[in-house]
Amino acid sequence: MNQHSPEQPADIVPRLRATYRAGRTAPVDWRTAQLRRMREMLTEHGTDLADALHADLGKSSTEAFRTEIDFTVREIDHTLEHLDDWLCPEPAPVPAHIGEATAWTQYDPLGVVLVIAPWNYPVQLLLTPMIGALAAGNAVVAKPSEMAPATSLVLARLLPRFLDTDAVAVVEGGIPETTALLAERFDHIFYTGNGTVGRIVMTAAAQHLTPVTLELGGKSPVFVDRDADPTTVAARLARGKFLNAGQTCVAPDYVLTDPDTARALEPALTEAVRQLYGAEPAISPEYGRIVNERHFDRLSGLLDSGRVVVGGTTDRDRRYIAPTVLADVDPGAPVMQEEIFGPVLPIVTVPGLDEAIDFINDRDKPLALYAFTESADTRRRLAAETSSGGLGFGLPLAHLTVSDLPFGGVGESGMGNYHGRYSIETFSHRKAVLEKPLG
Ligand code: NAD
Repeated sequence: MNQHSPEQPADIVPRLRATYRAGRTAPVDWRTAQLRRMREMLTEHGTDLADALHADLGKSSTEAFRTEIDFTVREIDHTLEHLDDWLCPEPAPVPAHIGEATAWTQYDPLGVVLVIAPWNYPVQLLLTPMIGALAAGNAVVAKPSEMAPATSLVLARLLPRFLDTDAVAVVEGGIPETTALLAERFDHIFYTGNGTVGRIVMTAAAQHLTPVTLELGGKSPVFVDRDADPTTVAARLARGKFLNAGQTCVAPDYVLTDPDTARALEPALTEAVRQLYGAEPAISPEYGRIVNERHFDRLSGLLDSGRVVVGGTTDRDRRYIAPTVLADVDPGAPVMQEEIFGPVLPIVTVPGLDEAIDFINDRDKPLALYAFTESADTRRRLAAETSSGGLGFGLPLAHLTVSDLPFGGVGESGMGNYHGRYSIETFSHRKAVLEKPLG
C-alpha cells in the first residue's frame, strides 16, 4: 500500500462494514450528500484531473472534460434528479388465495462494494460505478488503475477529502493490492477491464458467493451498407474510433463492408482524419497517446496486417501511433485476432449483409455493434439476428451517453450493466415483501 492508503484490505473492509451495519449509508440524505460532494470535487478539481489525464494518456483538456469529468457530473445530476423515484417500492398484485394482503419490492443496499477500474477512462470508469453504489446506499472500496498513475494519485488524494471516509476507501496499487482486496468478502464486485482478469475476479468472488458485474471489451464491428453516404460514415466513424487514440472499450474495432463501399470509404476516411487532426496528427493537441510501451509495441505489430490507407507511422519515444486505416485486411490477419484497443481501423470485405451477420455471429459477442445503413429492414435484421452489449445505428459510442440506457456486455464482453437507474438495480437487492394484517 502507498502513503495514501496505509491501511490493509483486511482492516479496511471490516471498518467499512461496521459503518454500513451502523446504518450510516442507508438514509437517502447521506447518499445524495455523497453525490453532491463528489460533484464539488469534480467542479473544483476538474483541472487537476484533466492535467493527470494528460500526463497519463495525452488526453486534451477538451476530451478530458467531455468524456470523463463532465460525463460524470451529468451522471451525478441525473441520479440526484431521479433517485427518489428509482428507490420507490413497487407494489405487486396479491393472488386471491392469500386473501387481504399487500406485497411490494423494495431496493435494499448490498453492503460493502468493490469497484475496480481500468486505465483508459480512469476517472469516469471509477466514479460512475461509485455513483450507483453510493446512491444505492452501499459503502465502497475504490481501486483505480495503476496503469494511469497520475490520475490514480489525484483520485486517491481527492476522494477522501470530499467523501465520508468511514464509508468510502481508495486503495491504490496493482496486482498484489488487487489480489489482497479480492481475498476479502465483498457484497458485490464491479470490475471493468479485460476478460482474463475478469475470470480472476469471478473466481475470487466465487469463494464468497459474491455477485459480480464484469464490464469487459471485445471487437466491436461496424457494418457499412452500400446505401450509406461515405463522407458522413467516415466522419462519424473516425471521430468514434480515434477518440482517446482508439483506447475506448466501445470504439469501432473494424469495418465490415462490401468491396465497392470499402473503396469509397478509403478517401473519405483519409479526409475525415485530416479534418479531425490536421495533416500531421503527431502535432495535434487533440490527439492522444498510447498508455505505455507494452501497448505501443503490441499495436505497432498490427500495422502490417493490411494496406495502409492513411497513417501507419509511429514514434515510440512519444508513444504516438498515427490514426491508421488498413484496407484489404484478411480475417486471419493479426489485427483481426484480438480487440485492437488502439488507433488502427481495419476494413474487411464481405459480399453483403448475410455474410456480415454470419461474420459477427461466428465470433465472440461484442460490447457494441454499429451499422450505417438507410435501410430499415437491414437495421431490423441486425437487431434481431445478432447479439451484442449495445447496438448503435448511425453514430458510434453515443448509446453509452444516454443515462437511461443500460450499459454492459453479453457473453465474452461481460455480464451485468449500469448507468442511471440500472446502477441502482446492480448495486441493490430487490427484496420481496408481503404484509398481511393479523386481525
Ligand atoms: P487494467 O490493466 O487497468 O486492468 C483493470 C484493473 O484490473 C486494474 O485496476 C488492475 O489493477 C486490475 N488487475 C490487472 N491485473 C490483475 C490481476 N492479475 N489480478 C487482479 N487484478 C488485476 O485495464 P485493461 O484490462 O488493460 O483494460 C482494457 C480492457 O478493458 C479492454 O478489453 C477494454 O475493452 C475493457 N474495457 C471495458 C469497459 C467497459 O465498460 N465494458 C470500459 C473500459 C475498458
